[in-house]
Amino acid sequence: MSSESRQIDRREFVVTTAAGLAAAIPVRLFGQGPAPRRTIDPVVVASANGNRFKNGGDVTCVEKAFGLMSAGTDVLDALIAGVNIVELDPEDTSVGYGGLPNADGVVQLDASCMHGPSRRAGGVACLEGVRTPSLVAKAVMDQTDHHLLVGADARQFARQVGFTIEPDLNTERSRRLWLEWKRRTDPHRWLDPRTRAQAGLEAGLQMAAEGLIDADHFYGTINCNGVGPSGDICGVTTTSGLAWKIPGRVGDSPILGAGLYVDGDVGAAGSTGRGEANLFGLCSFVIVEQMRQGRHPKDAGMEALRRIKANTTEKRLLNPRGLPSFNVSFYVVNARGEHAGVSLYQSKYAVCTKNGAQTLDTEPLLSGRADE
Ligand code: ASP
Repeated sequence: MSSESRQIDRREFVVTTAAGLAAAIPVRLFGQGPAPRRTIDPVVVASANGNRFKNGGDVTCVEKAFGLMSAGTDVLDALIAGVNIVELDPEDTSVGYGGLPNADGVVQLDASCMHGPSRRAGGVACLEGVRTPSLVAKAVMDQTDHHLLVGADARQFARQVGFTIEPDLNTERSRRLWLEWKRRTDPHRWLDPRTRAQAGLEAGLQMAAEGLIDADHFYGTINCNGVGPSGDICGVTTTSGLAWKIPGRVGDSPILGAGLYVDGDVGAAGSTGRGEANLFGLCSFVIVEQMRQGRHPKDAGMEALRRIKANTTEKRLLNPRGLPSFNVSFYVVNARGEHAGVSLYQSKYAVCTKNGAQTLDTEPLLSGRADE
């Protein structure tokens, strides 16, 4: 027997909670046949905008997703129906229609989704012209052999499978804000690219500090993960990415293992915040692997945040205290429905259970604020 197969055999165990055998749920291995069906209290976790925007309707993303999955809708379809509310709401300037555009004033969207039970995934990056990139990510999952389509070809794919392509996803507000950013950064136009990028970042952060754009939406995204009544685990992440980004920049959101990771037997994790910091460590994958080893969602998330902190050494990314000058948050749920929201600096996250939707404080790794 190879050492690899011995290792796999050793993992064939049943994880029990500290509370005892009554709460035990079998944890299955890769490729061991269909998951045993189980009954569980469904739960949905998301970034805070998942319990804020309603796009003129009655329910938020987490309420919609929770209601649908509790009624028997496929968990991923339920989560995507939830994030569609935020994608379509022009008031959320970090996601979908009305998302803040890139440095050329073009809205470019990223999204990914993972379906735990079938172990399938899809994603799109730098997609222009479709308000709901999460649905295009799902179409990549459902209708192709691939996991990620990008740029003009992702748009062409969307057109081919029947999505409406719009010439421009800016709203009056997002265009006005882009023009304001352009006005502020024009004096730096002729500087070297590195300095210009930094000047652009600073101008954007200053606009956030002045309340022109929501600080959460300079970096902003929605990640939404859920465990359905049968224990099915899925997740979706969708974003317009970093405001005023260099055209073509792709963040963590559409990258499996970074902006989202789901293991149908273990749990799900997804992120918002500085994508580059997350991409460097593939933190959602790290979190799910930590949970596989038995760690609680909160402890698993804290491990990923510690790695981000340790990997943040460039001076330009540090605040006066020598700590990361940005935030990253993770939204985590395990197969038992235990969940956590964790972040480098205190933030909020959304949860929906049978007791209703709540916006809760995340568990912070660091004290104070990112910019102080
Ligand atoms: N993580 C996203 C990105 O880097 C943006 C965000 O969540 O704020 O594209």
